[in-house]
Amino acid sequence: MKIETQCLHEGYEPGNGGARALPIYQSTTFTFDSTAHVGDLFDLSAAGHFYTRLSNPTVDAVERKIAALEGGVGALCTSSGQAATMLAILNILGSGDHIVSAASIYGGSLNLLAVTFKKLGIDVTFVDTNASDEELERAFRPNTRCVFGETIANPALTVFDIERFATLAHRHNVPLIVDNTFATPVLCRPFEWGADIVVHSTTKYMEGHAVQMGGVIVDSGKFDWAQGGFAGLTEPDDSYHGLVYTEAFGAAAYITKARVQLMRDMGTCQTPMGAFLLDLGLQTLPLRIRQHAANALAVASALEASDKVEFVTYPGLESSPYHALAQKYLAQGAASGVISFSLKGGRPAAEKFIDALGLVSLEVHVADIHSCALHPASSTHRQLTDEQLVAAGITPGLIRLSCGLENVEDILADVQQALAQV
Ligand SMILES: *Cc1c(COP(=O)(O)O)cnc(C)c1O
Repeated sequence: MKIETQCLHEGYEPGNGGARALPIYQSTTFTFDSTAHVGDLFDLSAAGHFYTRLSNPTVDAVERKIAALEGGVGALCTSSGQAATMLAILNILGSGDHIVSAASIYGGSLNLLAVTFKKLGIDVTFVDTNASDEELERAFRPNTRCVFGETIANPALTVFDIERFATLAHRHNVPLIVDNTFATPVLCRPFEWGADIVVHSTTKYMEGHAVQMGGVIVDSGKFDWAQGGFAGLTEPDDSYHGLVYTEAFGAAAYITKARVQLMRDMGTCQTPMGAFLLDLGLQTLPLRIRQHAANALAVASALEASDKVEFVTYPGLESSPYHALAQKYLAQGAASGVISFSLKGGRPAAEKFIDALGLVSLEVHVADIHSCALHPASSTHRQLTDEQLVAAGITPGLIRLSCGLENVEDILADVQQALAQV
């Protein structure tokens, strides 16, 4: 099936007389005939749903759909994108381990890696994705256990050279984890370029209507955990009578462990209703994401032509230093609906511009069906030092503009009148 068809049909197939729409199993629990069956479920020797924190038929259908969209062996939905990134990393790293991460990543991920993981004893080295091979090599340590980056970084909009970083990670026998939130599997499937694990904030384009928080982890099933350094996957888990994930679950070892161990213990699960809403969004994702990108390209071109604008960052623009990478990694070079641009007047001009917008709302959100704008330096990234701001590709006058699905002429008119007031 092509991706538009997968978005509608993967994960759930109604039987004769079955419901056309994905049923919502609004139940925390499930009933059984025998203690023996329940025992098998707890031993992981039989598959089945017994408690919604671990799995639920509605959530399961959406996980199957997303795994198919990304071309993975399995997926695990989470309560938010933050939970997905947290679990994806904690599934293979612990105290004493180290991450090599792209410096231009989402502010929440940056805090998670640099602040909270640090308290847990996990170190991170942030690298400039444009650094030379020698510089990147120097970031690795004997205890490095994964490489992390974002396909299209939020909000810096740098395009991650997935193939290059996959090669680098694999040279050090560690997996590459890619946050594919902005691209979605419609524009990019990181596994096709060598990534091993994909995470998403489904809160953004995948759900798409600004109604439901969520995240997902997808496992390519291709990484060889047995090459060393991943004892949690290759050595017995006492909480399952000494089960070894790589032996019991083969290619699905990573995603199974994330569910039956980390989701069991940490509990950041998606709800059945949340999964249903995510599924509704996924059904129209291909149509939406392409229109978001078309609107953004028109707005980015108009901004580029304004003398009040210092620079426009949109990888879909030919002038972008990331244009070539966008052409390589993103279907038709469609670089999502998110643009960032900096006003010559710096912080005061950016605040004036945002306050002057009418149709385009001020929101701490992005990748929304409605157009919205944000000033990162005074909101999402206000906890960062100037040095960290620059490393994350953010200037004081930077505005993140997320183009929605309104008629593009209406978006352009609002942006032009706000620019006129700066
Ligand atoms: C929003 C976002 C996240 C965090 O997701 P939440 O659903 O808000 O927890 C992670 N990565 C990227 C790229 C994001 O845009």
